[in-house]
Amino acid sequence: MAELLVTGGVVVTLDARRRIIRDGAVAIRDGRIVAVGKATALAPQFPTAERIEAADHIVLPGFIDTHQHATQMLAKGLADDCTFWQWCYERIFPYDAALSEEDVYWGALLHGLELVRSGITCFADPGGPHPEAVARAVAEVGHRAVLSLHTWDRSPADRPLPEAVRSPSPAAALAATRRFMDAWDGQAGGRIRVSAAVRTLTNASPELLRAMLALARERDTIVQLHAAVSDSHNQWVQAETGRTPIRYLASLDALSDRWLLAHCARIDDEEVQLLARAGAKVAHCPGSSLHSAYGAVAQGKIPELLAAGVTVALGCDAVASNNRIDMFQEMFLLAGGQKDARRDGVIFPAEQALEMATRAGASALLAADQLGSLEVGKRADLVLVDARAPALTPLYDFALVPGLVYCASKHDVATVIIDGRVVLRDRRFPHLDEARILAEVRARAQALIERLALPVASRWPWE
Ligand SMILES: [Zn+2]
Repeated sequence: MAELLVTGGVVVTLDARRRIIRDGAVAIRDGRIVAVGKATALAPQFPTAERIEAADHIVLPGFIDTHQHATQMLAKGLADDCTFWQWCYERIFPYDAALSEEDVYWGALLHGLELVRSGITCFADPGGPHPEAVARAVAEVGHRAVLSLHTWDRSPADRPLPEAVRSPSPAAALAATRRFMDAWDGQAGGRIRVSAAVRTLTNASPELLRAMLALARERDTIVQLHAAVSDSHNQWVQAETGRTPIRYLASLDALSDRWLLAHCARIDDEEVQLLARAGAKVAHCPGSSLHSAYGAVAQGKIPELLAAGVTVALGCDAVASNNRIDMFQEMFLLAGGQKDARRDGVIFPAEQALEMATRAGASALLAADQLGSLEVGKRADLVLVDARAPALTPLYDFALVPGLVYCASKHDVATVIIDGRVVLRDRRFPHLDEARILAEVRARAQALIERLALPVASRWPWE
């Protein structure tokens, strides 16, 4: 029976009362939280547990990134400063088509390193090529994921998808998703789950959307989908279907509580109500919206969605469209972005941003009973933030949560425990050769860029 006692830190529980415990402790047995309280009270109850000293640290539940592309790691820098269509058709779709399974595997190992260093213990991947390679990497790194196979079956003549990535038919997409689910759902001690997914509403037939929704119901999981991403995305859907994305889903009688909709950057008040009535979940990605000009920060309906009761969680999206993986930054951009967009300094308190990065993420992945807070019975996913870091000095009690949202960054994450296992200890991965992973990704990225021959060049001269 493996026991851990994380002791002596300030424990930000995110429990029902949102307690913050000074000189707190979290006891873990077999990957699950078995006690949360004062260190002095817990120490005698767990005398033989391995102790993780957390004095001078803030102990948080692991962040949950509800929109995060593990397969795009080698695309870092491939799609900066371009239009939506350039991003899709000139950069990322050709990139997807050129990836080998081993490219994805090594990229996903790097992805795991970046996530864990950011305190992200669980992510939802809306799918890309070779998801089984992502699963292998997640199993090895030790974090938690809701993975999927991307499916897309609509490839119009004027904007064809690369043959290598597109689904030949809804039936084929369904069969491939079932195979991936059968192979990987519940693996790595339950850390890996597999959901249904449709890559994007712009390239999906109604048959595919309905088939994936039915599969999600059958397997009691979610469907991940990019929807209402930007004005360009919406214009395509409107030209093809005569409706905006959310109205289109509603018209198919396909809006449901199974959808995890990424972005929803450009929706109106009526669509907010449609989402609320259906119980659909939204992954808001402010960093990627700012990088790629989606409009989610300036014109998104985040306060309206929350007021209507919609679960809105956070996503860092991808290194090809953010390009950072830093949930602290995402919380800052969420709260700061909404305050700036509405010219209202009190519309979005820091505590709400932290809730969206943790509890709401768990709800969005239908895992609120397992993840998202430090409470007895939940899986033991914990992040220890260095409270002695310069960025967090001084740190007043009343400013603790605002400090995490407005001052801290991923560089302040010291130790990460996932499923009761210390995956990052004092900023080092005890079980991974980080230098080798970085070297392998550099070599693979070089080979990939040479065979891709993308229309990209430095705007400044190199000598
Ligand atoms: Zn995405």
